Amino acid sequence: MQSVDVVVIGAGFAGLTAARELGRSGFEVLTLEARDRVGGRTWTEHRLGHELELGANWVHWVQPHVWAEMSRTGREMIRSPRAEEAYWRGADGSARQGTLEEFMALIEEGQQLVIDDVREAMPRGDQPTVGAIQELDALSIQDRFDALGLDPEARAANESVWVGHVNAPLDQVGLSSALRWVAATGGHWQLMHEASSTYRVVGGMREFTAEIARQVPGEIRLGTTVVSVAQDADGAVVETADGTRIRARRVVSTLPVNAIRGIAFSPALPEVWERQAAETVASQGTKVWLRAEGHMPRFFAYGTQHDALSVLKAEFSLSDEQGDYTLLVGFGPEHARVDPEDLASLQAAVDAVRPGLRITAATAHDWMTDPLSRNTWMTHRPGQLTRDLTELQEPSGAVHFATTDNANLWGGFIDGAIESGLREARRVAESLRP
Ligand SMILES: Cc1cc2nc3c(=O)[nH]c(=O)nc-3n(C[C@H](O)[C@H](O)[C@H](O)COP(=O)(O)OP(=O)(O)OC[C@H]3O[C@@H](n4cnc5c(N)ncnc54)[C@H](O)[C@@H]3O)c2cc1C
Repeated sequence: MQSVDVVVIGAGFAGLTAARELGRSGFEVLTLEARDRVGGRTWTEHRLGHELELGANWVHWVQPHVWAEMSRTGREMIRSPRAEEAYWRGADGSARQGTLEEFMALIEEGQQLVIDDVREAMPRGDQPTVGAIQELDALSIQDRFDALGLDPEARAANESVWVGHVNAPLDQVGLSSALRWVAATGGHWQLMHEASSTYRVVGGMREFTAEIARQVPGEIRLGTTVVSVAQDADGAVVETADGTRIRARRVVSTLPVNAIRGIAFSPALPEVWERQAAETVASQGTKVWLRAEGHMPRFFAYGTQHDALSVLKAEFSLSDEQGDYTLLVGFGPEHARVDPEDLASLQAAVDAVRPGLRITAATAHDWMTDPLSRNTWMTHRPGQLTRDLTELQEPSGAVHFATTDNANLWGGFIDGAIESGLREARRVAESLRP
């Protein structure tokens, strides 16, 4: 049986970072990744005539762990195109069109009111469970909107912006998610918007993660699904789907909460993991790329929170033998309502938020039904953050847990994944040193 110091399960940002740090600290590390590629929930693919991010896309310099990796791997950023037109749906469901400035004026008051108490609720972004959030965590984002008394037009627009951010119906998402994101940007919602949806990495996530993978001293074994982790007095035995068994002194699991049940742990997972995996976290939406005929002014469009697509943006203007076309990226709060094979229903979903376009093709990856993720970008249900975050960070014997789902600062984002990888690499190293 092969024997190593540490097995890292998963080669997303958390796993790659943990493996690199441990390898560079002199430990023998083996990374086991079920997919045939590294990157996890980041995935750059050539589809619809362009390199597309099917998973994560945007990064920002206020994300300190991302920024350190950008510097370390020599990455540059590029700004997504500025919208020249804005579309939204009024309180009566009818279409509105205006400028970006008009839409921002419509949402300004509501965006501030949703997070107005962030300084008391969550004074420090790096300590998301400290503050009045302890009393507020039972609230959903919908509860907060219901209490604000916004003008109906402004309320509809503000709700759709937040549903785009949190990737789930607002009555299922904790207010904590809104507060966390804004606490991470010093209390400024405008900066939060910019940080979460503006700059993408030149060369895409594929080159970014490939560069980190090149820095990992140990082997990264692709196409290798871990099925069980059995602890004993010497550490743990990790078994893969083809029956291979590997002994490790420590194991770092980077599986998302929703997917952790894909591995049989013995002893069983700590109660906190079982509980959250059973409940699932709140995020449950989708991201879809659409090909629309012709070129057009760059726009963004917001539906209502009840539309299949809550957000739609024009990203790339392209041409091929069939003519000019524009690639749009859309987000919806319920993954099952967006089927890239069903162009008629996608056309209807687009018509609802941005009339006048003809959709000719679409592509997406359903991360919610993917057994290796079962999640998009994590947002919590009401109560989960303060009840579970600290415990989710605790190792269980020889098994450590590094995932964006248990990060402090930008939990749910790439930044959180890197933070968790660094944290657990340090803890594992400390536990192995004589
Ligand atoms: C559509 C979408 C859009 C997003 N947009 C953004 C964005 O713009 N900006 C941002 O910062 N974040 C975004 N995110 C979130 C971001 O992608 C994640 O937070 C981050 O990539 C998570 O990294 P991770 O290492 O914690 O988990 P993952 O990337 O999920 O890595 C876990 C790894 O474990 C592997 N694995 C699972 N089970 C097993 C097993 N049994 N055996 C072996 N390997 C296994 C998986 O294949 C995977 O590679 C987005 C996510 C999605 C899905």
